[in-house]
Amino acid sequence: MSELKVTDLTVKFAGITALDHVGFTVEPGSIHAIIGPNGAGKSTCFNVLSGVYKATSGSVRFGGAELTRMPPHKIAALGVARTFQNIALSRFQSVEDNVMLGRHRLMRAGFLSTGLHLPHARREDARHRARVREIARFVGVAEYLDAPVGMLPYGVQKRVELARALAMEPKLLLLDEPVAGMNGGERRAMAEVIVAARADLGISILLVEHDMGMVMRLADQVTVLDFGRKIASGPPAQVQNDPEVIRAYLGE
Ligand code: ADP
Ligand code: MG
Repeated sequence: MSELKVTDLTVKFAGITALDHVGFTVEPGSIHAIIGPNGAGKSTCFNVLSGVYKATSGSVRFGGAELTRMPPHKIAALGVARTFQNIALSRFQSVEDNVMLGRHRLMRAGFLSTGLHLPHARREDARHRARVREIARFVGVAEYLDAPVGMLPYGVQKRVELARALAMEPKLLLLDEPVAGMNGGERRAMAEVIVAARADLGISILLVEHDMGMVMRLADQVTVLDFGRKIASGPPAQVQNDPEVIRAYLGE
């Protein structure tokens, strides 16, 4: 099992220090939440962990590998999958095809032999599609497999995005505001899937979330960022009552 260890992570943009010597550890099989006001550096942190942004300094280790100088596809190949704050799906493609995109890293036959319908490629494709259907059932979107993603309610689209990340068979899942913009029922459905991903699939989860109730219910550990600095960390009940955290949220 792989732990994620972030040490002294600093990210500077022109004129802004988005992350300032931030450190935290995601224990294997745990749910760890990063919270903090807008602009605190949460998405920047995810972008570094997934290889989209370069760290200015510091280290990110996952299962013994150093991620800070790796391109996104190498990080994904180590078993780190992510979703985005805004939906990043192909609206005109079906749910099944969108989730299939998550499998491409695991497929051995190239696009060419798949396109030519060669027998070995066809068998492999069928095997992956069967797994895609299982995952769609797992996140509760099986009934929409053939529907174009753009036609579906927002809460369902967000679960399709999660399904695509799960289709990579990750060890660690990075979820950026998975319930933002959702109604109560959609939030509960998403929370159930997140809990099940950890319980049934053994996936570690790093979660950025504004919904405090959700963080308090789901997270084992919480790291609080404010203006790029870590201002608190610990179990939710402890962090919730931390005076610095309360001050950051009240904007004093
Ligand atoms: P959060 O997700 O916590 O709301 P972000 O990580 O998106 O915060 O942003 C943290 C800070 O870094 C903000 O001041 C933001 O404007 C800045 N920032 C984020 N991405 C970039 C970028 N690509 N270029 C310049 N500044 C950025
Ligand atoms: Mg953000």
